[in-house]
Amino acid sequence: MPAKRLNGKACASDLEERLKMRIAECKVQPHLAVVIVGDDPASHVYVRNKISSCERLGIKSTHIELPANTKQEEVASTIISLNENDSLHGILIQSPLPSHMDEESLTDLIDPTKDVDGFHPSNLGRIVQGRLDGMIPCTPAGVMEMLRWAEVDMAGKKAVVIGRSFNVGMPQALLLASRGADATVTIVHSKTIDAREECRAADIVVAAVGSPEMVKPDWVKPGAIVIDVGINRVEDNSRERGWRLAGDVHPGVSEVASLLSPVPGGVGPMTVAMLMANTVTSAEAQHS
Ligand code: NAP
Repeated sequence: MPAKRLNGKACASDLEERLKMRIAECKVQPHLAVVIVGDDPASHVYVRNKISSCERLGIKSTHIELPANTKQEEVASTIISLNENDSLHGILIQSPLPSHMDEESLTDLIDPTKDVDGFHPSNLGRIVQGRLDGMIPCTPAGVMEMLRWAEVDMAGKKAVVIGRSFNVGMPQALLLASRGADATVTIVHSKTIDAREECRAADIVVAAVGSPEMVKPDWVKPGAIVIDVGINRVEDNSRERGWRLAGDVHPGVSEVASLLSPVPGGVGPMTVAMLMANTVTSAEAQHS
C-alpha cells in the first residue's frame, strides 16, 4: 500500500490559524525585519514567500535589500540598528550571503531574543540544555511539528537523521532525542560507512542532505516514516524551465514507507510557518 502523504501545507495552515489567534491576543503587532544581500534569485523568492506569509497573518514586515557589493561592516551596522529598534521582534538575514561575507560572525551579532532563525549560538546551545521554549531553527522545528500533527509516537523509536548541519541535521537530532519526543537517534553524514544500513534500521528517517533522491526504496524499512527535507534542482528538459524540484528521497520510497512528506509541499511550508511562530513568540516574550 502506498505511503500516506504527510501534508506540510495542511499542517502549516493549521498552525497559521493558531498563530492568528495568538496575534489577536498579543499586546503588540509582531514585526519581522528581513535583510537580503545580493541578487540570488532563489533567495529573493524565499524572501517574497516570507513577506507574503507575514501579510497573510497580520505580522508587520520590514524588507531591507542591500546590493551584492555591500561591505560586511555595513551589514553588521544594519543588524546592530535592528537590534536597537524596540518596535522589532524578529531579525532574519537571508542565507546565503555573498561569498566575501562571514555569515557566522554576522549571526553572532543578532540579539538572541530576536534571532527568529534560531541560529545564534546561545539559541542552539539552549537546545542542548533541553530548553525548548525559545528560538528553535525553523526547519527542524517544523519537522517536529509535522510529526506531532500526524500523531507519530516517537518515544523509543529509532530515528536516523541524514545530515549534520548546524541549521538542520544537528538541531533535528537533538529535538528528536529531547525529553517528550524521546527517540533514539543516529546521525548519518558523509563519512558514515554504510548509510543504507543505518537507514534500514530506522523507524523514522529525516533526510537533510542536498543530494537528489539519494534515499532509495531499499534504504527504508517497510512501514517507516520518512521526512524529506531536501530541496534540489534537477535538470528536466520535459519542462519548459528545464528543471524540476527533487527532494533527497526517491519517489519509489512511497511504496515502502507508511508516511512520507512530499517535496514540494512537505517541510518547505512548515519552515516558513515556524518562522512566523518564532516571530510571534518573540513579540509575546518582549511584551508579556
Ligand atoms: P548542508 O549544510 O550542505 O549539510 C548537508 C549534510 O549532508 C552535511 O552534514 C553532509 O555531511 C551530509 N552529507 C552530504 N553527503 C552525504 C552523503 N553522501 N551521505 C550522508 N550524508 C551526506 O545542507 P543543509 O543546509 O543541512 O540542507 C540540506 C538539504 O535540505 C538541502 O537540500 C537544502 O536545500 C534543504 N533545506 C530545506 C529546507 C526547507 O525549508 N525545506 C530548509 C533548509 C534546508 P558532512 O557534514 O560530513 O559534510
